[in-house]
Amino acid sequence: MDGKIQSLRARIDGLNLQLLELLSERARLAQAIGELQSAMGLSHYDPVREQEMLEALTAANPGPFTDATVKSLFKQIFQASMQLEEAEEKRHYLTSRSAHRADTVVEVGNVAIGGRHAPVLVAGPCAIESAEQVEAVAARVASRGVTLFRGGAFKPRTDPYSFQGLGEEGLRLAREACDRHGLAFVSEIMDAKELPLFEEHVDMLQIGARNMQNFTLLKAVGRSRKPVLLKRGLAATVEEWVMAAEYLLNEGNPNVVLCERGIRTFERYTRNTLDVSAVALAKLETHLPVLVDVTHSGGRRDLLVPLTKAGLAIGADGIMIEVHPNPAVALSDQKQQVDFETFDRYLEDTGYHTKLSEKRHEVYGF
Ligand code: PEP
Ligand code: MN
Repeated sequence: MDGKIQSLRARIDGLNLQLLELLSERARLAQAIGELQSAMGLSHYDPVREQEMLEALTAANPGPFTDATVKSLFKQIFQASMQLEEAEEKRHYLTSRSAHRADTVVEVGNVAIGGRHAPVLVAGPCAIESAEQVEAVAARVASRGVTLFRGGAFKPRTDPYSFQGLGEEGLRLAREACDRHGLAFVSEIMDAKELPLFEEHVDMLQIGARNMQNFTLLKAVGRSRKPVLLKRGLAATVEEWVMAAEYLLNEGNPNVVLCERGIRTFERYTRNTLDVSAVALAKLETHLPVLVDVTHSGGRRDLLVPLTKAGLAIGADGIMIEVHPNPAVALSDQKQQVDFETFDRYLEDTGYHTKLSEKRHEVYGF
């Protein structure tokens, strides 16, 4: 009896190897089809073809498996081939971690973002409002060790009658303040025609949440050599966000930093919901540095510390925060910008003052 089982098992072992060989051959053919489909811009999933194959298989089913079992077995095989084709396709994306294993480090002026570098803090007002305001914030944040300054000169505002930013004058004022205090300057560009102006005044171009899928802007900024901070759209999937970055890389600009800034959900206690898993996913799926904007995510001062801790704990390469000399009279985002004292407390409570010392040491060597 034992000998009989042994010999039947030996036949099964042989069949397993034959099946494996056949499955591998089938997978290679599916890959070849997938490559042709990709070249033609066609989808890899063809439900009609899949249905036809299942019908042919159940029609030829000799038993003992039921038709349902045969279908389920082959569906598994179809799915495995599809996964293979998708993995292959991903390898062709410039943003993909499978195309580029090592972390990309983006240099903004003397400040390195990503990889093993100390996390950066991008701080500054929501909008540049006056020479006095921008000077006060730049002086204060620089004195605390900040190396990257933010401030909007062209503001994307929901209400067309609200403050739209100082435009060119704002860029000039912030550039001067940053130069006085040794800060690199990042500001949002909303229109491709303003690129020459931005190239003259900023160290990093920000693409805001509302423009994340403005493909004309993405292509223009992708042709620039300035580093880019690409915010996630308020209703964009991680894939859409990464594809927006792909536009920039595809146009030849490899210096892209992603920024999660909260997405719109049903929750009303916060302005947006910080999607921490998106930060982890973006780090897994791409090789680009990822920042977390804690100001726009929660839209609440009392969440700045915990959201910063969460962002850094999940692997963010830095944080963005809005600071204003007197938020109560700010021309935008009054509710969530912090004053100087609150900013100092924030640095203490998050432990960022230590991280800033590390960063300053990296940038200036002291
Ligand atoms: C900003 O950072 O100034 C801004 C407008 O942010 P977001 O595009 O993320 O809303
Ligand atoms: Mn703002």
